[in-house]
Amino acid sequence: MKSLYNPPALIKKAFKNYFWETVNNKVLLTFDDGPIPDNTEAILKKLDELNIKALFFTVGENSQKYPSLTEQIISQKHTIGSHTFHHRKIPGLSSEALSDEIDKVNNLFTEKFNYQIRYFRPPHGRFDLRLNNYLKARSMKCVMWTLLTFDYKNDIELVKFAVEKYLTAGSIIVLHDSLKSKNIIMDSIDFVYEQVSKKGFQFGDAEECLK
Ligand SMILES: [Zn+2]
Repeated sequence: MKSLYNPPALIKKAFKNYFWETVNNKVLLTFDDGPIPDNTEAILKKLDELNIKALFFTVGENSQKYPSLTEQIISQKHTIGSHTFHHRKIPGLSSEALSDEIDKVNNLFTEKFNYQIRYFRPPHGRFDLRLNNYLKARSMKCVMWTLLTFDYKNDIELVKFAVEKYLTAGSIIVLHDSLKSKNIIMDSIDFVYEQVSKKGFQFGDAEECLK
């Protein structure tokens, strides 16, 4: 059961240069799959109220489609990472397609948003041995997680179970600013905030958590 929430130690050991947890014993909130109108805006408002700086792994085509939302994430001092351009699974992609999925996002951000992408998260958490070299060549780092909340299953009880049971001081938590989790995302963020406070942990931003 645990591996569903927290990747097995063996994999973590084999991929040491990936981030599986934060380096400073602070909790890092990450949001995958956005930006999406309504949901991302509401999340940004909530994070502002709670004074949390998060890491958004946006999908390139969504950032292209919703530039003002993307700019809002940047202007509110959150960090943006790449989640590929089309949210495609890495294993099985040709070398050319893999380069394209990474470079299209990076180019979009430098050209349109004057922003340098430094972090990457593979869609569905699926990666292969090639990925590390591709990221290294682009001075990017891969960010996995310590705690999957399963918020996309749209069941707040499942989120509460995962957070209550697996939250640690150095957790990298995965949430989604996609439509799938829209109905429970506010309650999920509140619950994470409550549990982090209750356990005496602290939130950190990407810069300090992923050195
Ligand atoms: Zn995703």
